[in-house]
Amino acid sequence: MKLFKLRGGIHPEGRKASSADRAIRALPLPPRLYVPLQQHVGAPAKPVVQVGDTVLAGQLIGAGQGNISAPVHAPTSGRVVAIGDHPAPHPSGLSAATVTIAPDGEARWFEHDVPADPFALTPDDIAARVGAAGIVGLGGATFPSAVKLKLSRKSGVDTLIINGGECEPYLTCDDRIMRERAAEIVAGIRLIQIAVGARHALVGIEDNKPEALAAMRAAAAGTDVEIRMVPAMYPMGWDKQMIQALLGREVPAEGRSADIGVLVHNVATAWAVQQTICLGRPLVSRVVTVSGGAVAQPCNLEVPIGTPVQALFDACGGFRSTPARLVLGGPMMGHQLTHTSVPVVKGSSGVLALTQAEIGLTRPAPCIRCSSCVRACPVGLLPLEMAARVRTDDLAGAETLGLKDCIGCGSCSYVCPSSIPLVHYFNYAKGELMAQARSKLKQEATKKLADERNARMERIAREREEAAAARKAAKAAREAAAREAAAKVAAATEATA
Ligand code: SF4
Ligand code: SF4
Repeated sequence: MKLFKLRGGIHPEGRKASSADRAIRALPLPPRLYVPLQQHVGAPAKPVVQVGDTVLAGQLIGAGQGNISAPVHAPTSGRVVAIGDHPAPHPSGLSAATVTIAPDGEARWFEHDVPADPFALTPDDIAARVGAAGIVGLGGATFPSAVKLKLSRKSGVDTLIINGGECEPYLTCDDRIMRERAAEIVAGIRLIQIAVGARHALVGIEDNKPEALAAMRAAAAGTDVEIRMVPAMYPMGWDKQMIQALLGREVPAEGRSADIGVLVHNVATAWAVQQTICLGRPLVSRVVTVSGGAVAQPCNLEVPIGTPVQALFDACGGFRSTPARLVLGGPMMGHQLTHTSVPVVKGSSGVLALTQAEIGLTRPAPCIRCSSCVRACPVGLLPLEMAARVRTDDLAGAETLGLKDCIGCGSCSYVCPSSIPLVHYFNYAKGELMAQARSKLKQEATKKLADERNARMERIAREREEAAAARKAAKAAREAAAREAAAKVAAATEATA
């Protein structure tokens, strides 16, 4: 099967062996589940429960708001013990609105309606059920899946790609899901295909996952879902790279894959769709890779959403050595964790405890202009030039060079022989640009308010002047009329005399 040439990319050491061969285990329920109301792109969910309420597994606890949002559900049965701020798994380390549940250990499920024949549902019905189940992109993007389904159908998408790339080192959760739940994933793919009206469905799996490939090929036999092998490289998990590898189509800069007739979902998302449509189960758990050189027994765990990260490390035998860095997600695009009380959320694919040797911190040296970063960039940017602009605070210059197209994959930093933290420069610069844009919006909103106030004051003053002038004219008219009447009376009196 033909594969197309890719731009850039790197081949970091996979480090997947320690967790890839262990079957997914269910994590025992922790004493508390901390379920954030914002686990997705878009507006946060609004709580629909109160402290003291009893909830069932899968029961709605936060309703989605607005066009882009997703609801959240209770991961198990129990009692709501708090609604308020709790540390969130976010790079800022700030807290976020969270519903805290004390599990009762009974795992009693809320009854959701299950269709007799899921494959007879209409596209709108499938999208509505996916939306009500709170499903978001589980590859890390966390964009609400129902919104993506509706937009793709509207855009006339003809090809569905299911991304089984999982190119980040250490992560094996998608690999294990494909090995163990292939039939369910294929059913989920067929349901997504119906929802968007896609004629073709392809699954791209990297060639370093032969067991997953075999399991998916066996499950897809007799269906029109096509399983294809792609070369293992980073960032194959990036949608645009997978589209390029499988179809040779390029998504335009700042465009969406739907612009070229393609919808991309992750394998775990397809599994979640099958669970919702066929079993009536909302998204209340996910498979998480726990790995890194400091973890005693790396593995993959099925984890209720809201479980504190510490419980995952405990379930893996704790640490064999003191971790030098804790990471949520993969080592390339994940972010550093400052403490382990933060909960697992829908987008958490992995938690890593890395040793000093794995981080390999070295001091940055001057750029030797070797252009390795240029060759590695999958977007076709000039990382060394962009970094030079950012270093001199020339953010506009960096933007001209394509800063906004940078996906933050870290390939440039990885290959840099001078250990220049290029991606950190770009993340910092993007944050600054966003802050500037927010500040500009605020200034514009303030100016608009001031202009409206001035216009209102001018209108009131003008209306007052007009009213005074009208009163004055009326008074003058009344006085003239009185004078005229008096003159008439005087004239009549004179005539009579
Ligand atoms: S890889 Fe590093 S040293 Fe080489 S050109 Fe890029 S920034 Fe400079
Ligand atoms: S982090 Fe940005 S600049 Fe660096 S390789 Fe990735 S996309 Fe290119």
